Amino acid sequence: MTLRPAAGAATDLLIGGALVPAADGGTFVTYNPATEEPIGAAADASAADMDAAIAAARRAFDTTEWSRDHAFRARCLRQLRDALQERIEELREATIAEVGAPAFFTTGPQLEGPIADLGYFADLAEQYAWETDLGIASTMGIQSQRRVRREAIGVVGAITPWNFPHQINFAKIGPALAAGNTVVLKPAPDTPWAAALVAKVAAEHTDIPAGVLNVVTSADHELGAQLSTDPRVDLVTFTGSTETGKAVMAAAAQSLKKVFLELGGKSAVVVLDDADLSTACTMAAFNVATHAGQGCAITTRLVVPRAQLDEATKITADALAGLAPGDPADGGTICGPLISARQRERVEGYLRLAQEEGGTIVCGGGRPAGRDRGYFIEPTLITGLDNSSRTAQEEIFGPVLVILPHDGDDDAVRIANDSPYGLSGAVWGGDTARVERVVGAIRTGTLGVNGGLWYAVDVPFGGYKQSGIGREMGVAGFEEYLETKAVAYPV
Ligand code: NAD
Repeated sequence: MTLRPAAGAATDLLIGGALVPAADGGTFVTYNPATEEPIGAAADASAADMDAAIAAARRAFDTTEWSRDHAFRARCLRQLRDALQERIEELREATIAEVGAPAFFTTGPQLEGPIADLGYFADLAEQYAWETDLGIASTMGIQSQRRVRREAIGVVGAITPWNFPHQINFAKIGPALAAGNTVVLKPAPDTPWAAALVAKVAAEHTDIPAGVLNVVTSADHELGAQLSTDPRVDLVTFTGSTETGKAVMAAAAQSLKKVFLELGGKSAVVVLDDADLSTACTMAAFNVATHAGQGCAITTRLVVPRAQLDEATKITADALAGLAPGDPADGGTICGPLISARQRERVEGYLRLAQEEGGTIVCGGGRPAGRDRGYFIEPTLITGLDNSSRTAQEEIFGPVLVILPHDGDDDAVRIANDSPYGLSGAVWGGDTARVERVVGAIRTGTLGVNGGLWYAVDVPFGGYKQSGIGREMGVAGFEEYLETKAVAYPV
C-alpha cells in the first residue's frame, strides 16, 4: 500500500483518530514546482473541519492520560519515527515532487533529519525533570515544602510554511507531543502532502490515541486565523512570514493564548579583514543557493572589507555561476525551483527593484536558459547598494545575495544589526578575540563562526527582534510547550 493517494483521489485529513475527507468533499491540487505539473490532490478543509479537529484535540487532552503518561508518549513517538523511516523512499519522492526540495537535502533537514529527531524528543519525554523540589521555606511563620511541576500546556495549534515542511512540522509536533500536549497541525497550502502523508502513517502505524494528533490541510489561509483565535487552543506555534506572525499574535491576544513565533530573516555574513576570504565567499554562495534561498536562516547579505570588495565579488560570482538551478531529483542539485509562480514573480520584482535602487546584478538575475518549465531563478549577486535599500532590508526568499562593503569591525557589526530581523548569520575572521567581540555584538539567534554549522536537534533555534519570539528545538524548544505549577505542602 502506498502513501500517496491513487490517481484522481486526494489525501485525507486526520481528525479524532480517523482519516477523513473534508466534510464538504472539497479537494485542492498540489503541484510539482520543477515541472509545473499537478501531482495530486489534498483534502480542502473548511472551518467546520477545523472546528472538529480542535474539539477532538481538546477532548483528547481533557479526558485521556496522554499528558501524564510520559513513557507511553515516548513509545508512540518512536513508533512514528520507525514507521516513517520504513517508508522513507516514498516520502523522499513525494517531498522532492511537492516541495521541489533537492534530493541532497532530503538526507538532512528536508526529511531524514527531522524524522530521526523524533527520538530526541521521545528521550526528553522520559528523562525530563518533570518535578523539582525547592525544599522547605518559612513565609509569615508557615513552614512549607515547595515543589515545582512542569505540565503540558494543553491544545497546541501548529501553523507551518512550505519551505522546509517536514523540518518545521516535526520541530513542532515532536516537542509538543513529547511534552504531553495534543496538536492540531495546519500546514501551508503549497505543501499539504508533507503533513498528510505523515498523518496517514501516524493513524495507521502508531498507538497515538484518537485526537492527540490532528492534521488539517486546506487551501484557505483563514483556517490558520481560526486556530489562532479559538479559545479551546492554549498555545499557537507559528512559523512563517513576519507579517503573518503579527496577525497571529494579534488574533491570539483575544483569548490571551501563548504564542510562539519563528519568522523571517535577512541574515548577514560578516567577513573581517583577516578572514579566509575565498572560503567565506564560496560558503556564502553555497548558502544562498541552497533550496533556491527559500530558508529563513539563509544568509542573504555578504558584508566584506571595502578594500576586498572587488575580489570578494569575483569569488562569490564565480561560485554562484557553478550553482546553476537543476532538477531537484538529481543528487548533485543544490539550487532547485522556487515553490510557485507567485513566489518567482515576487523574487523577480525584487530583482527589478534592486536595479531601480541603483544596484548592479553581477551574475544571475533571470530565469535559467533551457528551463522553460519549473519556477527556477538563477542564483544572483547584487552589488552597488547601500544597506538602507529595500533590497538589503527586506526578505526576498529567493537565491539572491547582496554584497556590501564595510569599514572595519564596528562598521560591519552596525551593518549586520541594521535590520528589523535577527535570525541567523556568520562571522569569518582570523583573530579569536576580534571574532568573539563581533559574535557578542551581533543581535541574532544563531551564528556560525568560520564555517561552523549550528543546526542540530539539541540546538535552540529562533530569532531576536522581528524574527520571532521563543526558541524551537533543544530543551528550550521542548519547554516552550510546558506550563509551570508551584505546589506547597505544610510541614
Ligand atoms: P506565510 O506567513 O504566508 O504562511 C505561513 C503559514 O501561515 C501558512 O500555513 C499559512 O496558511 C498560514 N497563514 C496565512 N495567513 C494566516 C493568518 N492570517 N493567520 C494564521 N495563519 C495564517 O509564510 P510562507 O510564505 O508560507 O513561508 C515563508 C515565510 O516563512 C518566510 O517569511 C520565511 O522567512 C518564514 N519562515 C521562517 C522560519 C523560521 O523558523 N524563522 C522558517 C521557515 C520559514
